[in-house]
Amino acid sequence: MPLSALKKIELGVFPTPIHKLARLSAHLGGPQIYIKRDDLTGLALGGNKTRKLEYLLADGLAKGCDCIITAGAAQSNHCRQTAAAAATLGLECHLVLGGQAPSSANGNLLLDQLFGARIHWAGEKRKGEDIPNIVSTLQNQGKRPYVVPYGGSNTIGSAGFIDAFKELQQQCHASSQLLEFSDIVFASSSGATHCGLVLGKALCNTNSNIIGINIDKDEQGKDTFKSQLHTLIEDTAQTLSIQYDGTIDDVQLIDDYIGQGYGVVGNLEREAISLCAQFEGILLDPVYTGRAMGGLIDMIRQGRFASSSNVLFWHTGGAPAIFAYADALQLS
Ligand SMILES: *Cc1c(COP(=O)(O)O)cnc(C)c1O
Repeated sequence: MPLSALKKIELGVFPTPIHKLARLSAHLGGPQIYIKRDDLTGLALGGNKTRKLEYLLADGLAKGCDCIITAGAAQSNHCRQTAAAAATLGLECHLVLGGQAPSSANGNLLLDQLFGARIHWAGEKRKGEDIPNIVSTLQNQGKRPYVVPYGGSNTIGSAGFIDAFKELQQQCHASSQLLEFSDIVFASSSGATHCGLVLGKALCNTNSNIIGINIDKDEQGKDTFKSQLHTLIEDTAQTLSIQYDGTIDDVQLIDDYIGQGYGVVGNLEREAISLCAQFEGILLDPVYTGRAMGGLIDMIRQGRFASSSNVLFWHTGGAPAIFAYADALQLS
């Protein structure tokens, strides 16, 4: 099935802007850094999940669902955006969140509640391990649940980022300087963003390196994220009839910035967040974009990019989590 045959609904505001981070680029003294503002996609304070949900929820509606179920961490941006999208469509939303109910909700969790989501606390299991049980319970109640996978990352969700790459190409062609990016850098965690960009690049026949900064540690005893990513790319290429012949070694995923693990803020994230805020007035988040920008800054300092090149940082959103990480983000 070609991409154009997949159903899509409108949930956000596109195209998202691209602009140069002139002051940050000058401060670092390396390549020109540009930013793609998917923090401005418009659904419930924005983020990359809007693009995936436009395809995923269209699929759910086409299948006649009356409720949505998905999973994530307590501060999941994906869950917050899914809850908002479900509200606009009049669908009940169930969120399976890692951890325990806190005494008071903040950040994304507060927003989940405002959107009317039903929350199921799952302890250690923040990647949707409990979804099948909740699906059976809902079905026994006569409901028709639609499962959005962890992070919205399957072949359907990936379609949103194939479109995103095409959107970028159109913006580059339309720009007065005919922009070209040697590298596109972003936070990679459940895979659909990365997968969509790789396949969008294959369709558009361009040369940019697609470089994901890995955010999460590999789980023991499971296939590595890189190999899951390669499988997702191959499956999506096959489902959507896209010519792709990359191997696992062509997947550029950088594991050097995981630090103390998922959601643990360190100096890397704190520095990146404050540099972007103070040089550009742009907010990054503590879990994803702070870490990815920290990685980009480190790679620039190591001289990985030619100073004549243009590098694109794809901002994937996440700012609502800032408020839930207030203590970790205090600058000393
Ligand atoms: C989900 C998320 C990502 C990771 O995108 P994947 O497609 O899951 O790899 C990056 N940044 C933010 C802010 C996110 O919420």
